[in-house]
Amino acid sequence: MISDLKPISCDICVIGTGLAGMAATLFAANRGLSVAQVGHAGEIVFASGLLDLLGVHPVIEKRLWSDPWAAIDKLAQDKPHHPYARLKKDDIKAAFDEILSFLDEAGLTYHRRMDHNSGALTSLGTIKRTYAVPHTMWKGVRALEEKPACLIIDIRGLKGFSARQIVASLQNGWSDLRSAQISFPGTEHLSEVYTEHMANTLLLPHNREKLAQVVRPLVKESKIVGLPAILGLYRTHEVVTHLEELIGVPVFEIPTIPPSVPGLRLKEAFERGLRLKGVQYFSLKRVLQVRHKTEGPFEIDIGRDRVQHKVHAGGVVLASGRFIGGGLHADRKRIRETIFDLPVYQPDSRAEWHRRDFLDPQGHLINQAGLEIDELFRPLDNSGRPAFQMLFAAGSILAHNDWKRMKCGAGVAIATAFGAVNSFVRLRP
Ligand SMILES: Cc1cc2nc3c(=O)[nH]c(=O)nc-3n(C[C@H](O)[C@H](O)[C@H](O)COP(=O)(O)OP(=O)(O)OC[C@H]3O[C@@H](n4cnc5c(N)ncnc54)[C@H](O)[C@@H]3O)c2cc1C
Repeated sequence: MISDLKPISCDICVIGTGLAGMAATLFAANRGLSVAQVGHAGEIVFASGLLDLLGVHPVIEKRLWSDPWAAIDKLAQDKPHHPYARLKKDDIKAAFDEILSFLDEAGLTYHRRMDHNSGALTSLGTIKRTYAVPHTMWKGVRALEEKPACLIIDIRGLKGFSARQIVASLQNGWSDLRSAQISFPGTEHLSEVYTEHMANTLLLPHNREKLAQVVRPLVKESKIVGLPAILGLYRTHEVVTHLEELIGVPVFEIPTIPPSVPGLRLKEAFERGLRLKGVQYFSLKRVLQVRHKTEGPFEIDIGRDRVQHKVHAGGVVLASGRFIGGGLHADRKRIRETIFDLPVYQPDSRAEWHRRDFLDPQGHLINQAGLEIDELFRPLDNSGRPAFQMLFAAGSILAHNDWKRMKCGAGVAIATAFGAVNSFVRLRP
């Protein structure tokens, strides 16, 4: 059957709407390219909102770094195949600057110390080493360092967040730390409450007043209050400032387990900002097939079960993620790349994917699997040459990148998207 869908032409198509895809789309749009972007939500909606650069290396020693740039130098020396080793440090810095200034304009301000990682509190009461921190969590970073009298509050019915546990984990070095539990106003009768619902509710000023009425009597001598990350689905500056006025002390957010409001904020800020930049956004759709002859554009079929759109693109950035995102698929014998069937770096047999002990300090080899790339971020074919002249890859789909253990998830996504798009611009006829 001959399709009557008229193809949409663009300079570049970004496959993926996780952090790597969003970053690649932003970089491409900022360089004046016409961009089509396609994908489902990806891991971004699960992410804590913290943007890690590099916190741990070598993984087996669990060595923590306070200077992420020194850590990247060491990593590039020790692991020349890690994606960071393909980039200059100035490029990684420029990539972060561009992303953070875009997010700031979108109302999602991040704070960081240029040459230092910061410690952020988690819902387990552990301290996570990270780089860029949403403004809603930044006062918590300072509180962890300065240890003022602090009240941590949890919410009845909210799963995976216990103020008592946080206090129990931290109180050895922080004597003025207390916990309390509240019912979120309007949910007193519910056995389970959800972060997105509460964050949405707090967009209305009178709901903030109701919350403040519950919190204020508990504050007592505390100089600061920590809450689960629910302070507005968006307009967080307004929500936080108003709540602080009502309660009378500064407040900060602590990340929750997924689904994560800070992750949703990131997704929403990117979607809104990228649409304003003229990006053709195919939301909640998939790339079903890509055709490419030696000459001419990539011909990309997009849809759900059937082809709904056709895109012709001069280049593609593949930012389709790993197993959760759908870029990689593990079948009985091997790990496959799902769109182009590109070779995937992986252990020789399935038996080697995981080590016997789940908490093995070396990590699991499956987390190193992914695409190998050349210095221009082009995935390689079986002969070690770029599979396509104008196909680039970015994000967690790249091999040699155990981002969870190394604490480099967002950093790799952002920096490799920068590298991939700049390579496209360089090679473009
Ligand atoms: C629970 C959790 C917590 C995290 N916390 C942090 C943190 O604190 N700090 C940090 O730095 N990082 C964190 N991360 C990691 C960070 O979110 C990831 O590193 C990053 O999102 C990887 O992004 P990605 O874009 O490469 O992949 P993904 O986010 O997985 O996105 C892949 C995208 O590709 C799309 N896709 C796949 N196949 C197709 C197809 N056929 N057609 C179209 N689209 C397709 C998917 O729909 C999706 O949009 C966390 C991740 C998780 C899951």
